[in-house]
Formats: sequence, C-alpha cells, structure tokens
Amino acid sequence: MIIETLIVGPLAVNCYIVGDEKTREAVIIDPGGNARDILDTLRREQLVPIAIVNTHAHFDHIIALTEIRAQTRAPFYLHTDEAKILASAQLGASMFGFPMSQPAPAERLLKDGDEVQIGSLSLQVLHTPGHTPGGICLLCDGHVFVGDTLFQGSIGRTDLPGGDYGTLMASIRDKLLTLPNETIAHPGHGDSTTIGEERQLNPFLRPLATGRWTV
Ligand SMILES: [Zn+2]
Ligand SMILES: [Zn+2]
Repeated sequence: MIIETLIVGPLAVNCYIVGDEKTREAVIIDPGGNARDILDTLRREQLVPIAIVNTHAHFDHIIALTEIRAQTRAPFYLHTDEAKILASAQLGASMFGFPMSQPAPAERLLKDGDEVQIGSLSLQVLHTPGHTPGGICLLCDGHVFVGDTLFQGSIGRTDLPGGDYGTLMASIRDKLLTLPNETIAHPGHGDSTTIGEERQLNPFLRPLATGRWTV
C-alpha cells in the first residue's frame, strides 16, 4: 500500500494519495491545493488516479479539485449528505478571502459501508457526520483517513454550517473508537496518530471514556 502525504493550500490541508503497489491505481483524498505538486507526485510514483475522494467538501479541502479533475479525468466521489456543503464551497472560500471557482457536483455519491476499490485495496466508507453532515472517514488496511473529524489531541470544529457537537462525538465513539488501537489515523490537518493514542490522550474524548457524557 502506497501512502503519499502532501501538505497543500492556504490552510495546510493533508492531501493523501493512496495507491496499490502492483496495479499502480490510486485515489486522491482531499485535493486542497497545489495541483502541480499532486500531479507531479502521481507522475513520479507512476500512479494512475482512478478517483478523487473527499472526506468532506469544505473549501480548503477542494481548492485543487477542479484542476485535478480536468488534468486526470478521474471522477469525484463525495458522501450524499455533503452535496449542500459542496454547493456552498465557493461562498465559503470567498468569505475567507480565497477566490475559487465553484466545482461541479460529484460523479458518485457515497454512503456508509460503500467500498472504493483501488487495485487489490479497498477503501471502506465510514459516515462520520458532525464536522459536516456528509463527512466520511476512509478505512483501508489498518489506516483510517479521518478528515476533520479527529485530530492528534483534538477534534473537528462543530460551529460551521451543518456542524453538531453531539453528532461528532457519536461518530467518533461509534465509528473510530471501535477500531483497533494500532489503527493509524491520518487527519485532514496536522500529524498522523493512532486510535489507541487518541483514546488514551485526547482530552476532547475524555467525556466518552468517563461515561460522563452520552449521546
Ligand atoms: Zn473541514
Ligand atoms: Zn479542514
């Protein structure tokens, strides 16, 4: 399994390229900027992108989407509940002072339990709403790409449109903390971590561990 991490765009998003070593097929997760760098990495690693999959559609995660789509002709996959967030991405970007053209709708709408095949690898879709309504995590072979749902020592913000704290905590409890401790979590910003480390050390997850908070 190939995992390339690129830190891209004005808000330092982690864009991941996940590929099959044998077939050289790959998916691009969260093309948040630096389209050139993403395309160069694909070329250097001799990877053929078969899809672009987004953990969610906040503008910082899709700044390079339109260009990557045009250059690779790879289809774009997004959770079905995230279409609204995508539709307002350009507005969100302009509010933060980053002009961006509005991306076209997704070619494939995902739901919980769907699988995205990359050669012999399979990315399993975990619907994890809370940061946004259609946020997903992607589980593959002991690795989970968690977007802005969970960070090393923190959790996603829930004060943006469609966000909800209780929903986010339930998603983390039911979809991420149920994974084995050694599972490596790759967030949308910052360093990778493990589920076990976050279970033990993440102060924002303490209400779940102590049972003092339930949803
Ligand atoms: Zn976000
Ligand atoms: Zn983000």
